[in-house]
Amino acid sequence: MRIDIITVLPELLTGPLTNSIVQRAIEKKVIELQIHPLRNYGIGAYKQVDDYPYGAGGGMVMRCEPLAACIEDLLKLNTYDDVIYMSPDGELFDQSMANQLSMKKNIMIICGHYKGIDQRIRDKYVTREISIGNYVLSGGEIPAAVVCDAIIRLIPGAISDEMSALSDSFQDGLLAPPVYTRPEEWNGMKVPEILLSGNDKAIAEWRLEQSLELTKQRRPDLYKKMD
Ligand code: SAH
Repeated sequence: MRIDIITVLPELLTGPLTNSIVQRAIEKKVIELQIHPLRNYGIGAYKQVDDYPYGAGGGMVMRCEPLAACIEDLLKLNTYDDVIYMSPDGELFDQSMANQLSMKKNIMIICGHYKGIDQRIRDKYVTREISIGNYVLSGGEIPAAVVCDAIIRLIPGAISDEMSALSDSFQDGLLAPPVYTRPEEWNGMKVPEILLSGNDKAIAEWRLEQSLELTKQRRPDLYKKMD
């Protein structure tokens, strides 16, 4: 899979996307991830990428020309399954969308800033708009990093124990059961005995019961969907 991200603040992406599982996935060539600084396409001596909004109102709007030039350059090199714009008014991101996106071949992600990007770029190029939640952040970089992290860890080869990603919360419509590691007893608190039993079937049943109970308590909305 190849992911191209267009941003005015590449530094905001390098941290989250050059560590841990994502970094390993890049090194193992499970994915190719390229960050494209929009400033390189800026207008004039100041490499301007934004301007005042028509019709007044506060804030700045990202101009069409730099974005279009960057997008066109990428379109010359690759074909994209989706050109995504991170936006609070987009489809709400969730695990099933992450699963869906992890199966794509190439995606492009545009990070907005200020008041957002000129609507004409959305109309001409964007095929999908994604929000990471009902709140407004200053830029699309953190949302893009969230989406990339969620997608990349699902791609076979990114996580050494592939089963591990499948047993996380939401994958089966349930919250994940509690987990324990050594020591067996800590501060007088013991690991549930069943987990030490070596009985795989009983352990699987216990985990499912715990998942069901937790989901019923914390996420009745998900629990109802199980019926
Ligand atoms: N004026 C816009 C908000 C702009 S916030 C509005 O009210 O909808 C600046 C940029 O941050 C956006 O262009 C978008 O790329 C990003 N952004 C902010 N909150 C986001 C969210 N919840 N999900 C995805 N992207 C978000």
